[in-house]
Amino acid sequence: MSNSPTLIRIKSALAKSVLPEGPVENGFLVRSVLVMCILGALIIAPFSWLNFYQGRSLIGIASVAVLVVCVLNTVASFRGKYVLWLNLWGAAPALAFSIVFAIEKLGVIGTFWTYMALCTYYLILPLKYAVKAAIVLFVVASVTAFFYVDVKVLVRFMVTSLGCGSFMYFCFREIENQRNLLSTQSLTDPLTGAFNRQSLQDTLAQFAHQQHVNDTTSTLCMFDIDHFKHINDDFGHDVGDKVLKAFSAIITQHMRSDDKLFRVGGEEFLLLMPNTTKTHAASIAECIRETLSSSEIISGHPVTVSVGVAESDKHLSWREWMKNSDDKLYFSKQNGRNQVSM
Ligand code: GH3
Ligand code: MG
Ligand code: MG
Repeated sequence: MSNSPTLIRIKSALAKSVLPEGPVENGFLVRSVLVMCILGALIIAPFSWLNFYQGRSLIGIASVAVLVVCVLNTVASFRGKYVLWLNLWGAAPALAFSIVFAIEKLGVIGTFWTYMALCTYYLILPLKYAVKAAIVLFVVASVTAFFYVDVKVLVRFMVTSLGCGSFMYFCFREIENQRNLLSTQSLTDPLTGAFNRQSLQDTLAQFAHQQHVNDTTSTLCMFDIDHFKHINDDFGHDVGDKVLKAFSAIITQHMRSDDKLFRVGGEEFLLLMPNTTKTHAASIAECIRETLSSSEIISGHPVTVSVGVAESDKHLSWREWMKNSDDKLYFSKQNGRNQVSM
């Protein structure tokens, strides 16, 4: 089938709406909720119709309510959004009620659906909620089964559903740990631990926007180690790396908890100082400069740094703001290096 303009538009709209721009963990939930809710809606819709058709209006109303939750969730997922309350207070209780109902009506056969429901919780809820919902489901299903199945079956059901729930928990906890690790690795520089250039754009764009709304003053300090190429040439790349690590450690020691450090180039670092005037920021930059020049990172060879300091202005874009700090840095370099300009 050829890709007509309409088909291409539909495909790109789907791709845009399903893949979220938000946090990575939400992206996973959006996609899994989408699949689960489309499947759920397709399965529940004929049942709803059948229940009304055969005069079981109470169950019919309940199944329509579940259908509505599935449809709302599907629409939200198509828009790239994960709606916690809809899953936590809609889909999760609906599943638990269905299990109780299934065990009451079908006995042992009804208990089998508990395993599906346990797995579903981990696919539609963030891990910390999934665990709690799974425990509630386990208790509710076991108590119901106590009245409707033989005690030997009950014991086996409890052991196997506990095993299934635990297995899901350990798998999803591992996935979450790996996801967090990947997210940290993709945002930070492995050598110095500072944020990398990729995270700079998002952070500064978001920050500049907030500043515009709140009308506060913040400052950027651009650091560039002087004659770093000579350090590499004279002492080797390993010593160059040691200098970079030591310098970022010095900046970190002088940072406040809200400040953020980015490694923007080989030996260039940018320090974002929220709610700070350029005079205050320059005094901190001066302390950093002095600490570096008096430290003995390479014995007998002082390492120095030039700094450019620029205050935010609500009429400036984040790029212009960063360029201002770069211009001040250039001034420091031109003026003889080892100094702070603002
Ligand atoms: P200036 O005082 O004008 O800033 O001169 P400079 O020598 O510091 O600047 P230049 O841009 O000429 O050289 C930067 C050097 O940094 C070149 C590059 O090989 C080195 N570099 C970039 N990344 C790394 C790194 O991760 N480790 C090491 N050891 N060197 C690096
Ligand atoms: Mg440079
Ligand atoms: Mg340099």
